[in-house]
Amino acid sequence: MGEALPTEITGRPFGVSLIAGERADTQDVQFDSITQASGATLQPTYTAASPAQVSEAARKAWSAFHAAGLMPPSQHAALLRPCADGIDAIGEPLVALASAETAIEPARLNAELARTTGTLRMFADVVEEGSWVDAIIDRPGAEGRPSSRQALRRMLRPLGPVAVFGASNFPLAYSTAGTDTASALAAGCPVIVKGHPLHPGTGEVVAQAIAASVLETGFPAGWFSFLHAGGGREQEIGEELVKHPCVRAAGFTGSRTGGDALTRIGLSRPDPIPVYAEMGSVNPVIVLPGALASEPEKIARRVAQSLAAAVGQQCTCPGLIFLIDGEGSDMFTKAMSAELELIEAGVMLAPRIQANYTRTVRELLALEEIKVLFGTDRVPAPPPPGKKEVAGPAMAAPMLLSVAGEHFRQHAEFLNEMFGPCALVVQCQNEQELFSCVTAFVGSLTGSLFVGDADVDRAPPFARALEQRCGRLIFNGVPTGVEVAWAMVHGGPYPASNRPDTSAVGPTAMKRWRRPVCYQNYPANLLPPELRDENPLGIERRVDGTLTREPV
Ligand code: NAP
Repeated sequence: MGEALPTEITGRPFGVSLIAGERADTQDVQFDSITQASGATLQPTYTAASPAQVSEAARKAWSAFHAAGLMPPSQHAALLRPCADGIDAIGEPLVALASAETAIEPARLNAELARTTGTLRMFADVVEEGSWVDAIIDRPGAEGRPSSRQALRRMLRPLGPVAVFGASNFPLAYSTAGTDTASALAAGCPVIVKGHPLHPGTGEVVAQAIAASVLETGFPAGWFSFLHAGGGREQEIGEELVKHPCVRAAGFTGSRTGGDALTRIGLSRPDPIPVYAEMGSVNPVIVLPGALASEPEKIARRVAQSLAAAVGQQCTCPGLIFLIDGEGSDMFTKAMSAELELIEAGVMLAPRIQANYTRTVRELLALEEIKVLFGTDRVPAPPPPGKKEVAGPAMAAPMLLSVAGEHFRQHAEFLNEMFGPCALVVQCQNEQELFSCVTAFVGSLTGSLFVGDADVDRAPPFARALEQRCGRLIFNGVPTGVEVAWAMVHGGPYPASNRPDTSAVGPTAMKRWRRPVCYQNYPANLLPPELRDENPLGIERRVDGTLTREPV
């Protein structure tokens, strides 16, 4: 038996998983949380969830899903606001802990905290507004339907328990209470979070606030669980979750390797489930000649700052910059280099991430076609002999590499994400070569197009090329900074995500956790309230082809 949760949420981790409202202690596999800036070990020691605990969390989520099946949407909205309030209430210790675990500065984490709790509240509003469920009623005898037919009613219904995997680089906004968790809870699905081993304390403290809100708002305790993962058990726990028959979907944010592995597991089950994977991205930036002629230095400074933001560890940092050679491109690369020189080395999220970054940069540098435009003295050192990772703070300083357009299509490595403060400038000889290079990459979260007055006729094919390959298209702007809004698309063709038909940010993210169900000839008492004639929730519906809030 686990220990019941304290009613007061302290902002202090205990080092154990939270399963269905109880602290789930075991003495099995233990691991530490490390202060990235100094390498010091933080207290407490963490215990990874055992296979039995993974199964218990999944089974309890399944039971909770069935027990709460008839809860009205207002109750799901009512869960999200106390979650947000509970997390805000522990904001100060939470940010301090997250900063110690990740080396991300408190100012950025405070902004991330506001975004996280703002997103929870936004989903509550969307659930209450109700139209997101796409309710449709087709009555017999309506135009185009014979009166002999039966009424058809359709809407999105929840899938069931969702497993959530957050990324290391956004310990709040893409982690325990990030959009995947918030959108799944909003969609009426229980959630089991697999804690990220690079911020276990942050994850557990956020989980306490969610677990307390679950109990406070009358949900079955199994509606939310948080599993610590580390000490060599991390990937097993992920696999056990995605394989578990009670888990009906998974949300993943992280590397392409991780996303691919979990997608394969989800698909190879006897009953395959959707795994929504948001992965790494190259985020191409195209600067057309007119833009290079008009304000090369201004654009270069913006791109440099975007590249180096968060030590280059954002999924939307620009990784490939496409230019046509000439006076403007020289000014651009010089201004970019000058701006990067002003940016000092920063601590990366973990030695493992620094080691991956180092390897990717060194692999590029080994190719004779690559030139270093800036940062010859900043080439990351290889790990010490016999060691996989560097000891102490894992630092990286911005760098800029280049390759001639004629060589760009020769090596697949040029299309790899460099998760760190380095980008590759592709220097083309003419517009035709530029177009050929731009069409070499396949999928990206974002694509930026800088266009000057002289580019009006030149821009359309480049805009179309980006549209075919990217989730979000930015005109005369940099890709970092993802707004939480209805029109946002955070996704894109593979490898940016495995589901280009969805977005991991904004209200539409909820639709990932539901599926359409059609009710034929169903009586009112068996229908969800959204589909009853009298429209008790007052939501917008498509009735006989026309959008309306009126009862029918
Ligand atoms: P990561 O190493 O892939 O980790 C993400 C999560 O997936 C962790 O919980 C990790 O577990 C788990 N995982 C990874 N490989 C796995 C496997 N084979 N089997 C089971 N679980 C697995 O990524 P990260 O280093 O935290 O984050 C950096 C990456 O995330 C970058 O590529 C970045 O571009 C991407 N990212 C994407 C977005 C987006 O919205 N598209 C946002 C932020 C970050 P363990 O670590 O415990 O093994």
